[in-house]
Amino acid sequence: MAKARAVVQVGDKKFELQQFDLPRIGADDALMRVEACGICGSDVDQYDGKLNGLLSLPMIPGHEPVGIIEEIGADAARRWGLKAGDRVAVEPTRGCGHCRACKRGDSRNCRTGRPGAKISVCGFIPTTIAPALWGGMAEFMYLDPEVALHKVAPAVPAELAALYQPIAAGVSWAHRVPGTKVGDTVVIFGAGQRGIACAAAAREAGAEHVAVIARRQSARRLKLAEEFGADATIYADEDVVARVRELTRGEGADVVVDVTAETLAPIPLAVEIARPGGTIILAGVKGPEAAIPDLKNDRIFSKELTIRGVKNADFDSFAIAVKLIESRKYPFEKMHTHSFGLDDLELAINTLAGRVAGEHAVSVSLDPLL
Ligand SMILES: [Zn+2]
Ligand SMILES: [Zn+2]
Repeated sequence: MAKARAVVQVGDKKFELQQFDLPRIGADDALMRVEACGICGSDVDQYDGKLNGLLSLPMIPGHEPVGIIEEIGADAARRWGLKAGDRVAVEPTRGCGHCRACKRGDSRNCRTGRPGAKISVCGFIPTTIAPALWGGMAEFMYLDPEVALHKVAPAVPAELAALYQPIAAGVSWAHRVPGTKVGDTVVIFGAGQRGIACAAAAREAGAEHVAVIARRQSARRLKLAEEFGADATIYADEDVVARVRELTRGEGADVVVDVTAETLAPIPLAVEIARPGGTIILAGVKGPEAAIPDLKNDRIFSKELTIRGVKNADFDSFAIAVKLIESRKYPFEKMHTHSFGLDDLELAINTLAGRVAGEHAVSVSLDPLL
């Protein structure tokens, strides 16, 4: 029987390369040959052991995969509108398809998930649940009937197609959820791949001004943000409130998006930067115990702000992201900085995390053929 090589996380900072039997595909499911799998901040946390409350080891990590349909059942082909040989981007969440959240089309908030997995997201489902190949850091991945897929044009290089998740996050956070309109000013805290994607999405929404704020050590990423639609970049140690006031003729920003990880500092600033009636999107993971200090209740009240948490992207945001990548309207090839093979996942994660001297990663992906 044919086998697939896969990286398996077996403990904190501990990967093993293992082989798994390829599953038998029935009428309603499919098998995908992985071309590339994006790596994001949560992969770093997963590797470090910071997400242990959510992990059910052993597991194949990787929740940002693109690949080619290798085999597909007749019912699945009809339902998804796909055939063998088509390329797809895979949404991470695996809803049960039947609970109240799933019936509302909100499978990201499905609480049923997969029995035995603490969270039902590909890359987080343990290999003890058949057929094991749930993660993208593998040669092949199993596509169960409930997965949401998006067809991607074959002309796009795989490592650029693998940017669909950060781009979808940008579309969700800087365009669709806050309802960004033509003429708006959008201010983004964070210049990683998601911050840069937010700049492009705000620009696509018709924003007049797009400002990105990041630390001085992220100067290269801020420069790149300019190529993705930012018309102002601000260092976090500047007088951020004054700079935004200047940019908006004293009005304040219509939309403020915080995508930074771990630091809470942007949130009280966002309250000052937002215009009265403005919207603040909180999309950065700060750690389970992090609580916001210095948040002035009466500023939120008197400015009538909307503060909205968003954890990832919905179906339409993914669909828009794929089209945006296919358009090649932005220099996505500059966003993708590193590719590694399956044997080098550890190095890939450390590169994205900025732990490899001399490397300046923005987006890193794994390519099982390398
Ligand atoms: Zn991710
Ligand atoms: Zn469900």
